Amino acid sequence: MSEKKLSFTFDNAWTKLGKSASKKALKFAEGYKEFLNDAKTERECVTVMVDVLNKKGYKDLDQVKALKEGDKVYRIIKEKGLVAAVMGKRPVTDGINLLGAHIDSPRTDLKPMPLYESDDMAFLKTHYYGGIKKYQFTTIPLSMHGIIFNERGEKKTISIGEEPGDPVFTITELLIHLAETQMQRKGSQVVKGEEMNVLFAGMPIEDEDEKKKVKAMALKLLYDKYKITEKDFISAELEMVPAFKAQDVGIDRSMVGGYGQDDRVCAYTELMALLDVKDPEITCAAYFTDKEETGSNSNTGATSRLYENVLAELLYKSKKNANDMDFRTMLANSKMLSSDVTAAFEPNYKVPDIFDKLNSTYLGKGVGIVKYSGSRGKYGCNDSSGEFFREVVNVFDKDKVPWQTGELGGVDAGGGGTIAVYMAQLGMDVIDCGVPVLSMHSPFEITSKADIYCAYLGFLAFIQKCGR
Ligand code: MN
Ligand code: MN
Repeated sequence: MSEKKLSFTFDNAWTKLGKSASKKALKFAEGYKEFLNDAKTERECVTVMVDVLNKKGYKDLDQVKALKEGDKVYRIIKEKGLVAAVMGKRPVTDGINLLGAHIDSPRTDLKPMPLYESDDMAFLKTHYYGGIKKYQFTTIPLSMHGIIFNERGEKKTISIGEEPGDPVFTITELLIHLAETQMQRKGSQVVKGEEMNVLFAGMPIEDEDEKKKVKAMALKLLYDKYKITEKDFISAELEMVPAFKAQDVGIDRSMVGGYGQDDRVCAYTELMALLDVKDPEITCAAYFTDKEETGSNSNTGATSRLYENVLAELLYKSKKNANDMDFRTMLANSKMLSSDVTAAFEPNYKVPDIFDKLNSTYLGKGVGIVKYSGSRGKYGCNDSSGEFFREVVNVFDKDKVPWQTGELGGVDAGGGGTIAVYMAQLGMDVIDCGVPVLSMHSPFEITSKADIYCAYLGFLAFIQKCGR
């Protein structure tokens, strides 16, 4: 063997895809950008995805008594999570090929008592959700999304700041001219949590008796439009997210910039892959979970039994006299790609040890397969087996899917987790696999359209062909 054949490097994904597949990648990103714009919260993701599933002939699992080969079903998890599946030819006890992305993204949420007036302006107090550089979420247009119940118990769905002509909101910040003291603060404190207050209103109500006239005006407008009062904020779930749309980035339009790509880029590619599965041998399923950014807890997070229950239902509705051992066998035979984004190598940040260049994923080099995440000594990670890694790589290679590998940053630099660890607890083989992202957790995350398309191709190859 020549030396060239013995050594190995990852090539550029555009080059590997070639002309016609590159064209398809550019086209694929159009639908993705639309999805990003329509689905800025976990609830909106569920709504948009269920709409697509219904159109493609998927049935609500609640409405299905018995399952057979070829059946397509979904189950909504408390409006904030979703599982969809296509029944395979083989019994589910042979295992399920799963994909799992999360549909929550970092943002800032309104506190239970958010509204106050200060200096003739009204503000909304917030508590940020997930890991953010707080200063990145100031001085940008924000939109408000979520739900609020009025006294009559009616649920109002709120979305302000997305439609043309809508007002937007923002978190104001100290002007640079007077920021000398602020600039001495350390990065995590440049903007403090209690300073993340959203500018909400600035016009007083005409009422002599009213002391807080601007707040009163804001409440009047809310009542006129939604029939809600200040008390109704307490049980509301309102999220402030960047109001701008996803856009092409680069003179060559090769990249997508937008909010919430962690992890909606994997949610979208996962959904598209599932829709394109044809007569699968093995049952295929896709998880879309909530609360990943805060540790996957709550009954809508990946640790919730509600997701596992769906898999149990696939078994009990497809196999007569199924028992608990069948369920455990099914889980043990299952395989999953934990479809979450990876950190792309950041060329602008030259501090050594943050990235190991040899073990980083890069923008435009294909979908990233990550054996383990965790932090500082692999702590808390799902370390997938070499056997399973090889199996996944073989499936990708056979379908000529450009892929790469890497760790999430240098050894002592930090780290992160995904839902992989919770899925592995059920006994299935799990490995992280997703799209590399630049400026992750910022309001404007960057991905390569080549990588997005490679994720779709890889996910499809995996669920359709793994274990065959
Ligand atoms: Mn993620
Ligand atoms: Mn994240």
